[in-house]
Amino acid sequence: MTTRPAPRLLVVEDNETNMMIFRDLLATEGYSVREAATAEEAFAIARTEPVDLILMDVQLPGMDGLEAVRVLKGDPSTSEIPIVAVSAHALPPHQDRAIEAGCAGYVTKPIRARDFRERVRSYLSPKRS
Ligand code: MN
Repeated sequence: MTTRPAPRLLVVEDNETNMMIFRDLLATEGYSVREAATAEEAFAIARTEPVDLILMDVQLPGMDGLEAVRVLKGDPSTSEIPIVAVSAHALPPHQDRAIEAGCAGYVTKPIRARDFRERVRSYLSPKRS
């Protein structure tokens, strides 16, 4: 039996309560979780550490999450990392903007634990055709 290393997630979230919720949910799934509160912190981690998936809060202080996605997608060292946008805005235009920025998906806050866990799992193991 082979043991795969735990998937490495980078959570970008400026709200401490939300971060705590993500941390708890993802830790119970066995993921290795790195945390960033700003776009700049996220860049520093994503450019220097292996990251399998980024969860990106759209509303961040300073550079917002979608601008951060564009930067990550434009940098060859981070462009391959799938990014899921996380936002309180549920309307389609917001989701469209996230996809246009380069996000693989969109999760609406408040997150629902079961749905969220399934979504994260699906982004970590994309279907191959
Ligand atoms: Mn926020």
